[in-house]
Amino acid sequence: VISVEALPAEHGDCLWVEWDDGPYRRRMLIDGGPGTRNSLPPGLKARFDRQPADPAAREFELVVCTHIDDDHITGLLPLLSAPPEHFSTRDIWFNGHRHMGGRDTLGARGANLLVDRLTDSGLPWNRAAEGGPIVVPDDGPLPVFTPRGLRLTLLSPTRARLDKLLKHWPDPRDTTADGDQDLLGPTADDDGTGHTGLTPERLAEIITDRPYRPDRNPANGSSIAFLAEHPDGSRVLFGADAHAETLVESLGRRWHGGGFPVALCKVPHHGSAHNVSSALLGALDCRHWLFSTNGGRGHETRLRSGRSTHPDLAAVARILLHDRQRGPGATLWFNHRSPSTERYRDPSLHRCGLRAAEYPQEGTEGITVLVRGTTVVRGQLPPL
Ligand SMILES: [Zn+2]
Repeated sequence: VISVEALPAEHGDCLWVEWDDGPYRRRMLIDGGPGTRNSLPPGLKARFDRQPADPAAREFELVVCTHIDDDHITGLLPLLSAPPEHFSTRDIWFNGHRHMGGRDTLGARGANLLVDRLTDSGLPWNRAAEGGPIVVPDDGPLPVFTPRGLRLTLLSPTRARLDKLLKHWPDPRDTTADGDQDLLGPTADDDGTGHTGLTPERLAEIITDRPYRPDRNPANGSSIAFLAEHPDGSRVLFGADAHAETLVESLGRRWHGGGFPVALCKVPHHGSAHNVSSALLGALDCRHWLFSTNGGRGHETRLRSGRSTHPDLAAVARILLHDRQRGPGATLWFNHRSPSTERYRDPSLHRCGLRAAEYPQEGTEGITVLVRGTTVVRGQLPPL
């Protein structure tokens, strides 16, 4: 079993992942979501509060900071500088400036702080790669890492994507850079939908009207993304904010001919239209799609004025119409209720490839998805 808890993390990602390893329960954390430097973000704090305060229950195999954007990195800063009682981790994955061939002297604010913390603290840093970058080499087999009880196959970043980030390393004085770019990707498309009803015809039109254009944001392209496989056959793709092209290329190295079976996919980049291509959908055989987003910054205004939000309607339309062709349709999992996620409640969507849309229980935020082999259900692992 792999349990994926998409904690409420506003416009970012914060995934608390657990799995069984014989009689033991193991865990990893992927990103910390947005937050402040000094205290844990509310979703992560509440999750630690629910976790028994003993060393075994708070030992992580791995903490991953997928990339330098605020909505992924900031919540990790307080975790590492003022950790909850008994927190420990056997490794931390983060590609800093030094892993791109530069020196860690000038960087985005969050990245600088994380580098300082990792350098000063003696915490394990990219131990899996002997301190080097967590990166997919240009040729040969994909790197495989084995935290206890799980097998991780690295899909992103490639060397070329890491180099690109070094060339476009954000200026720390630019306070507007990360968040907005992250929401919009390279272009702010008008998805023209507002609150109008959704029909199969409308979805098909949206796809035709808005041809796919790839994400060119170098920070997103540097995302650490991987496949997690459990001995019971459970398989989850953690897409971070990775570029679809990188994922497709890497999946092709693992599995020729497309349709790689994955029970659950954490959709890259909060469901941006620029990170969900038909090539990516074709590379996977997947019916469960997890979106970590509250709609993105300014989503209510954006939606009202007909501009794109997270997830982007074009991305969801591609997923639905793709899974509809293959049957029996797609299940969408959301960790927040917001106007941009709740529009997929519309029952007419069952005609266009939607099997189910799953939301947090009434009065709560965040969602837990249990993957057992090819079965994917809502649920909770039994308490420790
Ligand atoms: Zn993001």
